[in-house]
Amino acid sequence: MARFFKPKRRRPNSGPNKNQQKVLRREQESRSGGSLQERFPGVEALSLELNFISAQNEPYDRIERRIGPKDPCDFSAPCPGRCGDGQFDLEQVVRSMVQDKRETAEEHLVCRETVYGDQTKTCDFRLTCRVTLRYPPV
Ligand SMILES: [Zn+2]
Repeated sequence: MARFFKPKRRRPNSGPNKNQQKVLRREQESRSGGSLQERFPGVEALSLELNFISAQNEPYDRIERRIGPKDPCDFSAPCPGRCGDGQFDLEQVVRSMVQDKRETAEEHLVCRETVYGDQTKTCDFRLTCRVTLRYPPV
């Protein structure tokens, strides 16, 4: 008597496979930050030197931040002034530096948010920032 082997049934593919899911996830990650390597592949390292100066022109705080290829791109710093919700954002500065292949830049930013609880005054906290980019040797 002949024996019949049932052919193995394959499950129909539904939805994205594992590889597609990985790609989707990577796209989502790059939209919400992403590492330096992902966002600016031509940059090896980045350092920020942030000097906060109060509205009364007194040094308030100094922060140094180094960003390596695998670190998330965090180019913003909350304003420590009386606005309560101001942000100093250096993303545009970094972007234009990369475009022009510049290595250093100095930026002066002033917080224009209104003081918390007093809409007639602006915060006026200042940030002096030195940005240094390192490009890989050609
Ligand atoms: Zn502020």
